[in-house]
Amino acid sequence: MSRVLACAPQEAKLPVVARGRYVEIASERDEPVCRGTAAYMDRVIEAVFAVIDETPPDRRFVRFEWLELDEDDPVIGGGRASFAGDGVLIRSDVYLVEEHELVHAVQMMSWPMPNDFLFEGYAVLLDGKRLWHDAYPWPQSASLDDLLEAPNVAYEDYDLAWFVVSQIALDHGFEGLRDFWHAVPRGSSAAEVRAAYQALFGRSIDALVEPYVVDYPDPIGPTEVERRACDFALCPAGEPAMWQQNQWSALGPAGCEDDPDAIGPDQRLLEWGDVWRDYTLFGEPAYYGFDYHAKTSFSVSACELNCDNVATGIENSFEGPPFLSDPVFRGWQSPVRVEVRAARSDLPAAAPGALTVTRSSEPPG
Ligand SMILES: [Zn+2]
Repeated sequence: MSRVLACAPQEAKLPVVARGRYVEIASERDEPVCRGTAAYMDRVIEAVFAVIDETPPDRRFVRFEWLELDEDDPVIGGGRASFAGDGVLIRSDVYLVEEHELVHAVQMMSWPMPNDFLFEGYAVLLDGKRLWHDAYPWPQSASLDDLLEAPNVAYEDYDLAWFVVSQIALDHGFEGLRDFWHAVPRGSSAAEVRAAYQALFGRSIDALVEPYVVDYPDPIGPTEVERRACDFALCPAGEPAMWQQNQWSALGPAGCEDDPDAIGPDQRLLEWGDVWRDYTLFGEPAYYGFDYHAKTSFSVSACELNCDNVATGIENSFEGPPFLSDPVFRGWQSPVRVEVRAARSDLPAAAPGALTVTRSSEPPG
């Protein structure tokens, strides 16, 4: 969500509880903020700048306010980003970590405000923890023109915005998405959006919601494929852990306030653990097996556009007996985002959860 405000809300300033290079976190809550959270928000911001091919300002420009949630009368009921002074104010009365709003902060600092479907759709695409996981086809009942010119896309239509933006990235790349964004200033009519698309890409924008042809190898050959919204994840991690031969290992959080790499708490994926450490794994097409020991879960998501899967979103494993799947082939061409998670109620842990990934170029025999 986002609202463009003329000025920042005039309220007593909340105390700042953490500072990073680009963000400060202020909190109204008694809950702790895990020690690595501000640095993680910095890394998310840097990753968004990298995707959109812009340079971050060399200063703290995001203030993140974590508010108490009044269930009966929420201040926001989610997160919201707004211009404030020469930066961006994010206020959230639900989650502490709002990658979606951090994407908005980067957009607002970098590019002019476009029509809302671009603003929201791009933020949903770059948030690998988006609530929308089913990549269903464009609904017959949806009006593309209504979406294109909506001054504020309704929350229940964010998946449509995600659909259209991901198809632009699929067909024209992130560079094409950037060009189109700049050609659709906020307030453009559907006719103006259509004309801008036609001028840039030489075809009707309707192509984005119509089947497209994929040229599969023989004997299948060119085949008409129904479009679906695409998966994508940012890779915000710092120094990558390295492969040792064909094994790669990563530890989960050992604590919250006392672990410099712990991120959270974040109840968004509560059943998967609300505190985590993040990693980047350099993937290549191979067979991968995952061996995981509690606490709670891990997730992996490739940092590349994936429009093939029927379902999108992170893969995960849950608490239980040590989990060792048969190795499965993954055609990863890009870095992969890995989170190893724990429940805050289990922290601090003398023996944090551990994930070991094994890769092989041969199918399991
Ligand atoms: Zn939003």
